[in-house]
Amino acid sequence: MISYEIGHPSSALLHLIRSGLDLNTPKKLRFTPVFVYLEDQYHLTVNERQTAINKIIKETNSYNFDIKIVSFCDWVLTKEINLFQNTTFNIGDNDGDRLISCIKEKTPKTNRNEIFNILRRNALCHIAKKLDCKFIFTPEISIDIASNLLKNIALGKGAHVSVDTGFCDDRDDSISILRPLRMFDMKELAFYNVLHSLDPVTVRQPIVNNYSSVQELMKKFVTDLQEGYPATINTIIKIGDKLVTDKTTLRKCKLCEAVIPEPTGDLNSEESTKFSKLVSNRLPDHNLMAQTRYAEAYEEFSAKQDVPSDYCYSCSKISEYILSDDDVE
Ligand SMILES: [Zn+2]
Repeated sequence: MISYEIGHPSSALLHLIRSGLDLNTPKKLRFTPVFVYLEDQYHLTVNERQTAINKIIKETNSYNFDIKIVSFCDWVLTKEINLFQNTTFNIGDNDGDRLISCIKEKTPKTNRNEIFNILRRNALCHIAKKLDCKFIFTPEISIDIASNLLKNIALGKGAHVSVDTGFCDDRDDSISILRPLRMFDMKELAFYNVLHSLDPVTVRQPIVNNYSSVQELMKKFVTDLQEGYPATINTIIKIGDKLVTDKTTLRKCKLCEAVIPEPTGDLNSEESTKFSKLVSNRLPDHNLMAQTRYAEAYEEFSAKQDVPSDYCYSCSKISEYILSDDDVE
């Protein structure tokens, strides 16, 4: 299954796959692609969204591929997957508001973006299962990977870096998400499209304030750095490739499916922060030896440890903004 997103990367991917399938050499691609467009352009008017869908259908059909359209909002609210194959796709003019209604009103933008990013990934996995696909291709390019990596670290998701930004995301037992364009940048793909006379679908972009969320800030940070130091993005991606997750643990986060580290004897960074908070709030008894004071503090800390959570550290922070537990999964 190939996830279609509006822009240069998806158009280039479409052309690459068609060329790969049409080859007459042993390198010929040997799978049957299914294209899926998860419709979530809620900043556009109904007419603009309809025009975009028509253009996407026309573009994919010109390569002899079919594309299935799924409403992101309907999936989040009903958890039902309705695949539309043609222009009969039903667009609601209040889809954006309906989508927002599943989270708390005062959710910070960073958490809101994060919740919808995770739900988007979950939606793709569910669609792939319905279509009986084992692999999903997503059109993320190098800038997305680099800013995602730094964002993950900023949001306490360091343990997810390898699956969130690596070539393969195999968090789900039966579906692997692959990122074939992760080493390309936008300029290369734009040139590729120009050289092959491709005309990617374009839509009006939303006006974003670069300082309104961690995700946008990271994107701006990486883009600005890349202008002055052209190797920035590659360096970040290569560092990310060296990070691996310990997959021996069995517990998985209920929201994002990432593995939750099992407690070891040593404190991890989350526990160290909590321990440090506890020690700072205690009145030390100076009649006792330092070691005894530490042992007492540690004992109190161990007794206070919560039951293991169903969420990873990062999701435990954002899950409180989701109104219904059914939305999680
Ligand atoms: Zn999680």
